[in-house]
Amino acid sequence: MNNFQFKNPTKILFGKGQIANINQELHPNQKILLLYGGGSIKKNGVYDQVMQALKGYNITEFSGIEANPRYETCLKAINLVKKESIEFILAVGGGSVIDAAKFIAAGVYIETDPWMILSDRAKVKQALPIGTVLTLPATASEMNGNAVITRDATKEKLAFGSPHVYPQFSVLDPETTLSLPARQIANGVVDAFSHVIEQYLTYPADAPLQDRMAEGILLTLIEEGPKTYADPKDYTSRANIMWACTMALNGVIGVGVPQDWATHRIGHELTALFEIDHARTLAIVMPGIFQHKSEQKKHKLLQYASRIWNITEGSEEEIIHQAVDKTIAFFESLGIKTKLKDYDVNPEAINEIAERLAKRNGEIGLGEHQDIHQQDVVKILEYAL
Ligand code: NAP
Ligand code: FE
Repeated sequence: MNNFQFKNPTKILFGKGQIANINQELHPNQKILLLYGGGSIKKNGVYDQVMQALKGYNITEFSGIEANPRYETCLKAINLVKKESIEFILAVGGGSVIDAAKFIAAGVYIETDPWMILSDRAKVKQALPIGTVLTLPATASEMNGNAVITRDATKEKLAFGSPHVYPQFSVLDPETTLSLPARQIANGVVDAFSHVIEQYLTYPADAPLQDRMAEGILLTLIEEGPKTYADPKDYTSRANIMWACTMALNGVIGVGVPQDWATHRIGHELTALFEIDHARTLAIVMPGIFQHKSEQKKHKLLQYASRIWNITEGSEEEIIHQAVDKTIAFFESLGIKTKLKDYDVNPEAINEIAERLAKRNGEIGLGEHQDIHQQDVVKILEYAL
């Protein structure tokens, strides 16, 4: 196991009715920015619950954060925060709203153009405190220090991470997720699945506890995901999916082990260029990574095949092949297609994506060995033709 330091400062308030307790986490005379998206929280009653809990508090609202939050919109929020001398940001929504809150919280203090946080890794030294009410289990943004922001003008989608932007608290009430359309539930399951794979399916690091925890999350997603489909009002499966998604990327399973993240990096280009849902881009890319890197990842792929899918018969090559097929079948069973043509992306786009990534990364390749370069990206995406 590799050396690591680990701290996760986010307090979780989990379960029914927990929104009512957010006032215990906030100072009554703090100036709060209530940040939300396109209005789902007004339809499902979450907005009313938050307002009820914060009666008498000093609240300014900013709505309209998009799915795949835009830099341009965040800049407007940064200006509002400065103008109103906001002291705390409460993000109510999915990963997009929470990611936007983090970027705004850091952007308020940065001396350069806030975009430099993403493009040039400008160091975040300070950020406004944030809290969240999560309404879409998927990203674990509610319990980590990462955010992904898209710039419309240049069609770039970039990530940053900082210890200063961990939420102080996050409310995870599974009842808030009952209004989610099947498409978003499926997206959440696949995004979390991929977060685990990025931290698990690399090479052995003598870390059996991390492996077992990662496998526990994968199996929970596989077992509980279909239950939410069979009965969309089933609180228990929603609750288990919600906690599994948070655990997938709150840092616990990633300590002391190598990490990949090539699937996400390639997927971000697909979203930036073609506006394909984040999770769907991962379902397109991941099978290609398994196949292109089957030799380097052999040990873990065989372990994944056996422990997750009970595949043990056949040659190593056959076992890996079956594991790839099972993974694709799982995504498809959730209604998530895995081929580029399913999203009307034509084959010429592959070269453009590979070129964009190569330009951005220079000599440093993607993946746990940093050896995925332009031609590898082409091959990985060709598996999705
Ligand atoms: P999202 O983009 O936050 O939300 C997707 C859609 O779901 C929105 O239209 C939203 O509508 C709707 N929605 C949210 N909650 C709902 C509810 N309870 N009922 C009905 N509709 C609801 O989705 P997400 O998957 O959570 O976030 C995706 C973003 O997170 C991507 O940009 C991705 O790159 C990023 N990401 C971040 C991390 C991280 O570690 N920070 C990790 C992976 C991915 P409204 O706008 O109307 O609310
Ligand atoms: Fe993700």
